[in-house]
Amino acid sequence: MPLDEARIPVLDRGFIFGDGVYEVIPCYSRKPFRLKEHLRRLQSNLDNIFLKNPYPDVQWAGLFAQLVTQNEGEDQHIYLHITRGAAKRDHAFPKQAQPTVFMMSMPLQATSPEILRTGVVAISAQDNRWLRCDIKAISLLPNVLLRQLAVDRGAAETVLLRDGFLTEGAASNIFVVKNGVLLAPPKSNLILPGITYDVVLELARAHAIPHEVRAVSETEVRTAQELWMTSSGKEVLAITTLDKRPVGDGKPGKLFWRMYDLYQAYKAAVIRQSEAQPI
Ligand code: PMP
Repeated sequence: MPLDEARIPVLDRGFIFGDGVYEVIPCYSRKPFRLKEHLRRLQSNLDNIFLKNPYPDVQWAGLFAQLVTQNEGEDQHIYLHITRGAAKRDHAFPKQAQPTVFMMSMPLQATSPEILRTGVVAISAQDNRWLRCDIKAISLLPNVLLRQLAVDRGAAETVLLRDGFLTEGAASNIFVVKNGVLLAPPKSNLILPGITYDVVLELARAHAIPHEVRAVSETEVRTAQELWMTSSGKEVLAITTLDKRPVGDGKPGKLFWRMYDLYQAYKAAVIRQSEAQPI
């Protein structure tokens, strides 16, 4: 239905408590990218908040296909949101409530060649979110405030630091290149297990790019040769200014361009493959 005709009850626990989880799935040539991985993360998020998955994977895939067919654009973003449903306001789980499922699809805006070439500006801030950042929860107020901090300073992202170590971005994962080695903070309760983060590490592994998954200190972030942000929306994007100082020589680095090319080639191969088979 048209977006402005969709309705939810005011007592929906998503609205009242932010009690729910979400997913964002990019679709290229109208095919969901890394669908299995997104559905696996969705399941794990639902398990983490003790909410039953309303649909089996095949049914999700069918719903996505329907949504993407009915919306415009070869490349789209599916936004999927599941809450614990509407019930009398009480923090504890309701005995009986039907999960609310909401999905929409928007055109996917590719990063402009200009931004790709220059990279983006970021600021840093202390990571003051909760200790379950691994859950893709719809309660995003801390992320909203941290991201606005960047926007207020004319920056594209906020790089988050907790206890002297890198966690992630307000809406992305962050990679560091130091002495020619790609560094990534390990998955933990402090970061979202990004689908793009996995793709980048898989590509690094497959193409023998030196990399380490380990705690990355604030000093390493501040003296990095390269900084990258990754997300399903932005794919891989170079951060070329951090807190008003240039990162490396202030331009997207050599390793960034290598990864960018690998990522695009991988994406093209996945799209070709998925065109050959039904969703
Ligand atoms: N961390 C946070 C906090 C995010 O919101 C996102 C997604 N926007 C990511 C990381 C990247 O995850 P993905 O690659 O799955 O989009």
